[in-house]
Amino acid sequence: MSETIVIAEMNNNAIHPSTAELVAAAGALGSEPTLIVPCTDASAADGATSWNGISNIIAAKSSAFENYDAAGWASALDAVMPQGTIITGTSPQSKDLAARIAGHRGMPVVQDVVKIDGNQVTSPVYSGKAMQTVSLGGASVISVRSNVFSPVQEGGENNVSVVDTTGNIATSVQEFMERASKRLDVSEANIIISGGRGMGSPENFSHLEAVADTIGAAVGASRAAVDTWEAIPHSMQVGQTGKTVNPNLYIAVGISGAIQHLAGMRSSRYIVAINKDADAPIFKHADYGIVATWEEALPVLHNKLQTMME
Ligand SMILES: Cc1cc2nc3c(=O)[nH]c(=O)nc-3n(C[C@H](O)[C@H](O)[C@H](O)COP(=O)(O)OP(=O)(O)OC[C@H]3O[C@@H](n4cnc5c(N)ncnc54)[C@H](O)[C@@H]3O)c2cc1C
Repeated sequence: MSETIVIAEMNNNAIHPSTAELVAAAGALGSEPTLIVPCTDASAADGATSWNGISNIIAAKSSAFENYDAAGWASALDAVMPQGTIITGTSPQSKDLAARIAGHRGMPVVQDVVKIDGNQVTSPVYSGKAMQTVSLGGASVISVRSNVFSPVQEGGENNVSVVDTTGNIATSVQEFMERASKRLDVSEANIIISGGRGMGSPENFSHLEAVADTIGAAVGASRAAVDTWEAIPHSMQVGQTGKTVNPNLYIAVGISGAIQHLAGMRSSRYIVAINKDADAPIFKHADYGIVATWEEALPVLHNKLQTMME
């Protein structure tokens, strides 16, 4: 395998912990990667100096990295990255960046990789109805789904080289609007409790929030819930046209389990479904199913979870 390069997932000029999973993915491809940290302040790279499994760290410093611009980031990163296979995360921004860099360098791209075996990588196709495995014949760009690889551990000692780079910014984001909700985002959560149209009204999502607060979960939603109720924002939507999630535990409440919803959550480690219809398709994919209305089941479940968390 040629050299591998991991582009760190960034959050407010800090390395997101999921980057340690990308380093592990590079290890599965057979080499210790160069970690590229896109930043405006090189101290951002300090977050990875004690990680194992890295050959070297480059803090790519540029004002271009203040706000995301696909073309600007791709050209600024291209100027500092060695040749080789490039690994990114699967946040919407990172998937976009992966495609841009692949276009920039004329390399193939495989998105949403969930398995690496030698030079063979596997990713879902047709909304997760099938999996495809492709062989990487040379340097490629791959984005790797979170919660698939165990993060590399602390214990290393890595030096950081700081490289100034510039991007050719075509457009730039002038302002970010603060999200109305401060709740954990579904794409960052290890546990998700999602509600569908079966919740009956957006106000009833407060019952899901109460459970979420007890177990440290994020609250998600089906598209029917997002489309029906203005108070349920698209940022909560899980599925083909929403977010792809891969938590340890996914609790689906009043969600039928349409193929487009499954596309975004079926790879969750454990799936629990609460639905009043015993024939709801979600039960075919659930590890644990409760056939009951959420009005009956949720208070009992919440009670048990509260006791467990005490
Ligand atoms: C191109 C395309 C893209 C799409 N993308 C997405 C996507 O990203 N995400 C997504 O979710 N969908 C997506 N959809 C929509 C998808 O096909 C379904 O329409 C949607 O997932 C249904 O949402 P739902 O299960 O909440 O609603 P419903 O299908 O209306 O199901 C509600 C469920 O709640 C149960 N229920 C009702 N009352 C109660 C109660 N009191 N207690 C317990 N259970 C109850 C019912 O038995 C039923 O199973 C997409 C569709 C298309 C065509």
